[in-house]
Amino acid sequence: MVALWTSIASELRERLGERNFLAWIEPIELISADGELVLQVPSAFFQTWIERHFVEDIRGAAERKLGRSVSVRFAIVQIRAADRAASVKDAARSEAPRRVRAPQTGKLNPNYKFDTFVVGPSNEMAFRTACNVSEDPGGGFNPVFLHGGVGLGKTHLISAIAHDILRRRARARVACLSTETFMNQLISALRHDRMNEFRERFRRIDALILDDIQFLSGKERTQEEFFHTFNALHAAGKQIVLTADQPPPAIVGIEKRLRSRFEGGLLADIHPPTRETRVAIVHAKANRLGVEVSPEVAEVLVQRSGVSVRELEGALNRIVSLAQVRGVTLTPELANEALAPLDSYRASVSVESIQETVSHRFGLQVSDLTSHRRGRQISFPRQIAMYLSRTVAQASYPRIAQQFGNRDHTTVMYAVRSIESKRTKDTAVDQVLVGIEAELRDP
Ligand code: ADP
Ligand code: MG
Repeated sequence: MVALWTSIASELRERLGERNFLAWIEPIELISADGELVLQVPSAFFQTWIERHFVEDIRGAAERKLGRSVSVRFAIVQIRAADRAASVKDAARSEAPRRVRAPQTGKLNPNYKFDTFVVGPSNEMAFRTACNVSEDPGGGFNPVFLHGGVGLGKTHLISAIAHDILRRRARARVACLSTETFMNQLISALRHDRMNEFRERFRRIDALILDDIQFLSGKERTQEEFFHTFNALHAAGKQIVLTADQPPPAIVGIEKRLRSRFEGGLLADIHPPTRETRVAIVHAKANRLGVEVSPEVAEVLVQRSGVSVRELEGALNRIVSLAQVRGVTLTPELANEALAPLDSYRASVSVESIQETVSHRFGLQVSDLTSHRRGRQISFPRQIAMYLSRTVAQASYPRIAQQFGNRDHTTVMYAVRSIESKRTKDTAVDQVLVGIEAELRDP
């Protein structure tokens, strides 16, 4: 059973991507595969989500492994049983028993410091908040909750906080770790019956900085433990900093009491950087690479890479290495050439595939998107699909209008503008788009 599920899960990991995998597939336990497939899931909410989004992928993968058709049924576990399931799974996964260690700062990226962070209107609030925290951990806002889309600098900022606290006070006990690491340490402690030690260790630290807290989603046991750790640290006036890809109300699968703790802190969001900031980031990164980038080359980079700073950085690295390989100077032409493969992805994405991906993502049918039905449930995904048809598939307005049930092309123009503006104002919308764009690029 374990082997069967491991092989199904690894196919799903490829198919659905790491994020979906960690949030939705990893918590599942296969409890039976004779006749139907019985999947044990942590909650009713979890089950509904799987049914809406992933059940077909799971069934498909299982059918390929088993070589016969199967139906899928769910069983919901109580919290205690979930603990056991998690620890059994963990035991199966790790080769050697690991010792429970004290939470450590972990490996901090040496480049992620305040002085390498370019500040602009999109991230100024988050930056200032981070500076305040490191000047006086526990003395001001607590907890601090940073949220924003992928690749916008959250991990950079929290690492900078940890560096800076340690720079000011070398003996400070700072635990800066990913939520995944926190969960693994917890599972390991449960397995070795060392929960007291785990609690003791976490409660002795001066600052707890947890990255990507959305991965707690659906992990009820971890949430419960985290809740107690959180309260203990908070009551003792210790600093807590959390990040997530969305603001607390938008994170699904997080217990209400925990969510309200998050909401009780200072929320600071990071938006996609403005044009000017993007240009400044290009120059700052180029500087560190020891290369010079002309304004024209910077312009090409800013125009042709996606919203995230990570993509911008990737595009810069790409043109710099191409120039080095060829032994030529960086010109706008070279930059255009180096970034051309990104465009071929754009051209290869069709309006149909966008309609399919978007409807799947929102649990709708393609016919819902092309219908004339209204209501936010359908009209928002429809606008998203229109927006992507324009920006990714680069189809013309009249053509999009025609492919979305023979609408008027001004409707499409309105939809594109509306999503564009939501995207810059609302990181949750940006986040959804970044996810779908990644899926289109790498189906
Ligand atoms: P997130 O954690 O939000 O997904 P990261 O912190 O990993 O994003 O940032 C992605 C990359 O972009 C990192 O290499 C980071 O150094 C860089 N980056 C993001 N924002 C900035 C910024 N304002 N200035 C300089 N580099 C940035
Ligand atoms: Mg990150």
